[in-house]
Amino acid sequence: MGSLGIEQSRLQVAIVGTGIAGLTAAIALRKHPQIHVELYEKATELREIGASITLGPNGLRTLQRLGLEDCISDQVGYRGPNPISRFYRHWKTNEIIGEDFYEDVSEPLHYTARFHRGHLQQALLKHIPSEIIHLKKKLVSASVDPRDGVKMHFQDGSIATADLLIGADGIRSGVRTAFVPDFELEWSGHTAFRGIFDASLVHSIQGVPLDSTHWWGPETNFFATRLAQNLFTVQGGIYADPQDPVAIAKFRDGGRWDQEANINLLREKYVDWNPVVKALANVTPDIRYYPNYFCGSSLPTWTFGGRVTLIGDAAHAHGGAFATGGSLAIDDAYALYLALTSVFPETTSQKPSSGEILKALKLYEDTRRPHAVRLLKVVHANNEMKTKKILAETQETDEELRARAKRGSGTTWLHEHDVVKSFEEALAASSKRI
Ligand SMILES: Cc1cc2nc3c(=O)[nH]c(=O)nc-3n(C[C@H](O)[C@H](O)[C@H](O)COP(=O)(O)OP(=O)(O)OC[C@H]3O[C@@H](n4cnc5c(N)ncnc54)[C@H](O)[C@@H]3O)c2cc1C
Repeated sequence: MGSLGIEQSRLQVAIVGTGIAGLTAAIALRKHPQIHVELYEKATELREIGASITLGPNGLRTLQRLGLEDCISDQVGYRGPNPISRFYRHWKTNEIIGEDFYEDVSEPLHYTARFHRGHLQQALLKHIPSEIIHLKKKLVSASVDPRDGVKMHFQDGSIATADLLIGADGIRSGVRTAFVPDFELEWSGHTAFRGIFDASLVHSIQGVPLDSTHWWGPETNFFATRLAQNLFTVQGGIYADPQDPVAIAKFRDGGRWDQEANINLLREKYVDWNPVVKALANVTPDIRYYPNYFCGSSLPTWTFGGRVTLIGDAAHAHGGAFATGGSLAIDDAYALYLALTSVFPETTSQKPSSGEILKALKLYEDTRRPHAVRLLKVVHANNEMKTKKILAETQETDEELRARAKRGSGTTWLHEHDVVKSFEEALAASSKRI
């Protein structure tokens, strides 16, 4: 287990969480010969749980920059035949009513891809030696001595130390709780039902698009996509007033995340939709329950005690909005790597001082936090608007729905964000301040 005593010459980095953020950070930081990484994970094993996860051009480009082509190949992620980021179809008529086009993406490997989260996690894991991953290590508290390092306490009573702690422990981050104990998550009112099954089950259905497709309805949506390794996935959802005690009992608290749910929740919800959606819901053998659309406000800082930072969902609890969590996590990890290597170049033999570590963390935060603040603003405004509509019991008209789909999601700024450019801007701004 990592401790300050092991290798005084190299920077000891502890990463808590082996999700997409933690694994990407570990792969990136291990490129630096003067950095030693240890990963701590609360799970007892790294099984293939979860459903589909989307990576946009931003995250895919970053994984390629890290030399991880094998993690983004068609053997791991699925890309449809058309170079279009998102297709929107009408819930009732099934016609295409909107598309999100790429603005500046020409490399096919950077076209939006859908992964089984387990496939992506396993692909990343191949780049990390198993001996640096410590399972059954749930972080329960952490403290910093700015000069000496960080001390982490785990649920099993063990303690680890490091020079730098990276909280990559997701939306309910224990690292964040250790330094921002009053941080609160709010349920957005959204609950998803997801099913993953063998793609052969959809062969008999006429008209299933080869491209990943969102069907938009006035009240909810339906998403379906092929995944690599001959899998298929569907996602339906329910939006409720997050303050409604009935919805809270039934959906927010009504089942555990990833718990098997009654398939009729999906089939009944989409019974009046177009024949393709209806047939997809009917062939789906089982679904799981994801009441995990929780959001939090922007954190005023991501740097704690000069030696702790957050990446991924731990840093920005945006509740899965715009299917961007995976790519954001990857870009956070990469920005942190860029910041650390700029302050602490690979050729340096001396460990960075406390001041240099703090400088790197600030540079990372300046690169990423404004982007996350912008996203969280949009997410909270959208959630409020959705709740207002539910409370007013107003439904979007067909014209409004079509106009919304025609406008598309308006999220190119998110999915095509260039983390390297942002880093360079943050670096230039920081050198002007000196
Ligand atoms: C098991 C799992 C399945 C998921 N499935 C999907 C999915 O199907 N589709 C989708 O869009 N998103 C899914 N997500 C969320 C998605 O992965 C993230 O929103 C996004 O990838 C950002 O990743 P992250 O690494 O920041 O957080 P996460 O992917 O949530 O990873 C956080 C990691 O930290 C660990 N952890 C949490 N608390 C502690 C603690 N106190 N001590 C030690 N370890 C801790 C968790 O077990 C987890 O491995 C899933 C998350 C998890 C944990």
